Amino acid sequence: MKTPMRLPCCRTALVGALTLLTGWPATEAAAAERPNILLIFSDDHSCQSLGAYRTWLTDFIRQQQLTPNLDRLAAQGVVFERSFCANSICSPSRAAVLSGAHAHINGVTRLGGRIREGVWTFPPALQAIGYQTAVIGKWHMAQDPAGFDFWRVLPGQGHYWRPEFRGPSGFREEVAGYATDAITDKSLVWLKQRDPNKPFLLLCHHKAPHRPWNPPARYYRLLADVTVPEPATLFDDYAGRTSSARNQKMEIGRDMTLASDLKVLPPGKYPPRLTPEGEAEWEAAFRGRNEAFAQANLAGRDLTRWKYQEYMKDYLRCIKAVDDGVGRLLEYLEQEGLDRQTIVIYSSDQSFFNGEHGWFDKRWIYEESLTMPLIVRWPGVAQPGRRVGALVQNIDYAPTFLEMAGSRAPSTVQGRSLVPWLRGQSPEDWRRSIYYHYYDPGHGVQRHYGLRTERYTLAHFYPVKEWELFDLERDPQQMRSVYEDPGYAQTVAELKTELARLRQHYGDSDERDQP
Ligand code: CA
Repeated sequence: MKTPMRLPCCRTALVGALTLLTGWPATEAAAAERPNILLIFSDDHSCQSLGAYRTWLTDFIRQQQLTPNLDRLAAQGVVFERSFCANSICSPSRAAVLSGAHAHINGVTRLGGRIREGVWTFPPALQAIGYQTAVIGKWHMAQDPAGFDFWRVLPGQGHYWRPEFRGPSGFREEVAGYATDAITDKSLVWLKQRDPNKPFLLLCHHKAPHRPWNPPARYYRLLADVTVPEPATLFDDYAGRTSSARNQKMEIGRDMTLASDLKVLPPGKYPPRLTPEGEAEWEAAFRGRNEAFAQANLAGRDLTRWKYQEYMKDYLRCIKAVDDGVGRLLEYLEQEGLDRQTIVIYSSDQSFFNGEHGWFDKRWIYEESLTMPLIVRWPGVAQPGRRVGALVQNIDYAPTFLEMAGSRAPSTVQGRSLVPWLRGQSPEDWRRSIYYHYYDPGHGVQRHYGLRTERYTLAHFYPVKEWELFDLERDPQQMRSVYEDPGYAQTVAELKTELARLRQHYGDSDERDQP
């Protein structure tokens, strides 16, 4: 396997010599030394709804061609199959990506938090070694982006239509159209005007497919006549788990709103921020559906099933638009001959419940929200089509980016570089468990910390003093905690020792009800 070219200190002369030998322009040779890094990062995109993963929904996603560009990227790159977040919610996952550290270290434990003063993050480090850096799209942290030559971010969660962007020195602008397209447009404009003599880092951060799952008009009718498969656990009764699973407020049947989430409102009332022409398109597409719904007078499981179908269709329509944006960026790289020198990473801040356990949203250490899609295409280095099963986490991204750029993250960073896995190696001293800690009170989900090994998930819901243990080999859908099962007593003891070791290793001792 080819390794990236590294040029020693008398670089100019060597680049000149290389140009003579290879015919490459000097700038291209210099760029090959330090590849460009493009991270396309969406919000709440589940692994189940990405064709490159292997889940109960994958066949449907592929049949309907909902993620063709992402699937192509995966075929040309490496898919991490056991990729996890450290705290399954937007801002904390972003802070973990930026800092390479868990929430109790970086300071962002909850939505909209602030990275603690003095915490190292990777964009300034790449900027310091000569990368030109930009972030465009969702940011969702209390402080302005640091270490970027250019930034245009959505205020807070941002809007799906006529999105506003803010930038340095109080800059604000409203852009016509749909957020996913606008974020891709701005990313392309930045790429076109960048200095071609320097390597770039571009973070293209989509708002979609975050709730309330508003799709673009071109996909209003996508899947309209199709039935989305239902997960086996859509009507979970939460027997076999603790009170924490029963007492949440994220059930599709009970907690998903008809008005905002499912857009069942009188004409002209929804969705907000559409132009008059946009409202007319919306009415033409959804009036019939809403009238039929009003006539049907659904209740009980029939109502849950209807909500599930409509939720999933809007969610998948949003994802189809994200995939379009991925396709446009990949096409630009190919057209400009940049694809060989650019590492493209696709990920999302966490996955999402697509009806499993009857739920939408995220937050739990349970599989559907613990995972993160992670696809990396690194031409000439990472073997296309490779699938990695190692336990990796969002704290690993920052040290990975530094090593990709030929540098190193400081030793205070808690994650580890994934570059060995990308080069086809399998480090024997790789972690055997990942640590997780969720703090936000949203959707009635109890605070909890825990670990996941290759086979087990152990969770401690400490405000209510409850524990759960899942044997993922025998119970991949996590329907029955075996924490109280005497047959697992030895496993519980071993995993509690491992959890104590992880908490000490990462320096987390927080068990208070409030952070
Ligand atoms: Ca999110």
